[in-house]
Amino acid sequence: MNLIKKDFPLLSSSPLIYLDNAATTHKPESVIEAMNNFYRTGYATVHRGIYRLSEQATHQFEHVRSQVAHFINADPHEIIFTQGATQGINFIATAWALKRLNSGDEIVLTELEHHANLLPWQQVAQQTGATLRFIPILNDGTLDLTNLSTIITERTKLVSMVHVSNALGTHNDTAPIIKQARAVGAHVLLDAAQSVAHQKLDVRKLDVDFLVFSGHKLLGPTGIGVLYIRTALQQEVPPYHYGGGMVFHANYTHATWLKAPACYEAGTPPSAEVIGLGAALDYIEKNIDFDEQQRHEALLCSTIIKELETIPAIRILGPREMLRTRGHMVSFTLKGWHPHDVGAYLDQHGIAVRTGHYCAQPLATKLGIPQGSIRLSFYAYNSVQDVDSCIEVLKKLVT
Ligand code: PMP
Repeated sequence: MNLIKKDFPLLSSSPLIYLDNAATTHKPESVIEAMNNFYRTGYATVHRGIYRLSEQATHQFEHVRSQVAHFINADPHEIIFTQGATQGINFIATAWALKRLNSGDEIVLTELEHHANLLPWQQVAQQTGATLRFIPILNDGTLDLTNLSTIITERTKLVSMVHVSNALGTHNDTAPIIKQARAVGAHVLLDAAQSVAHQKLDVRKLDVDFLVFSGHKLLGPTGIGVLYIRTALQQEVPPYHYGGGMVFHANYTHATWLKAPACYEAGTPPSAEVIGLGAALDYIEKNIDFDEQQRHEALLCSTIIKELETIPAIRILGPREMLRTRGHMVSFTLKGWHPHDVGAYLDQHGIAVRTGHYCAQPLATKLGIPQGSIRLSFYAYNSVQDVDSCIEVLKKLVT
């Protein structure tokens, strides 16, 4: 699996050991080339030009929408291009929730949420009078589903949850939660920022109404993400922002707009980034088998867990057995050391890891680690040697 490292110019041309893939992944040559080529040979405005170059650019752009739809088993008009997962969640919070929710309504989240799936709902709650409720975690960082029917009730209008935690690597068992949401008529948003690059997603099987992810965690460029809005819900979701490209007819006082997805994408879109995302999906289709990737990343997790367990000062966070079988990250603390100091020490030895609370500060506080932790996160291009080198440096630090 790690043979693919050669396709990633930054990783193959330097001795850097990159273990911060939960933050963002590196880009294969083909993605960089596709974006360059678009600017060099295919660039023009999309959806607006009558000339051939513009029509070709539009064709390429819309082809990527179909690719994304195929990738998550949606229909192309259900795919809305955004800046990323954060904007996708803000989109639903602003365009749908602010207009639909009232005092007495409830929004259910989990205690594992990234700030991107917490702060927008805090704003909605403050502005509408709705209340936030949280599915709690157990000691091992998995969700406690025992009292689901008292948390998701007739008052619940939305369940918005992370699919895989960016802080602990927990894979949430979404099926019973979504079943309960359906039983009370609540909508469901899934934050797939951490799962989309590591497992096959199917919006129909998952039975979600909204789903978000970012291209940059999926080998694609920054500045592009996806918001899936189920067809049946599109009539409930007005545009998030207004302007050029969405209009059916406008006069000086009023306007009507086109159907989805055009009505949700006012303004000149990030076309080169969309092309880059399409190239990333092509790369994944040609080179990645999700089952094989998951086995490989889980092997890296179990290798590191086994070694970390031999160091008494280390506390491994998250559900160990789950990480050993399907994880792509391991987070831990080292007694007597600030996580940032451990990160800086690893960096001095050419190893890039993330430290801190990873934009999940309430979770760090709940776990009693306000300074956060150290997170090693993997992608298919990481090797067992990467993990061995990291262990060697960590052992040097503690002895
Ligand atoms: N949710 C989760 C679980 C994430 O890991 C991240 C990125 N760290 C986000 C949301 C936000 O993604 P972005 O910053 O690309 O919008």
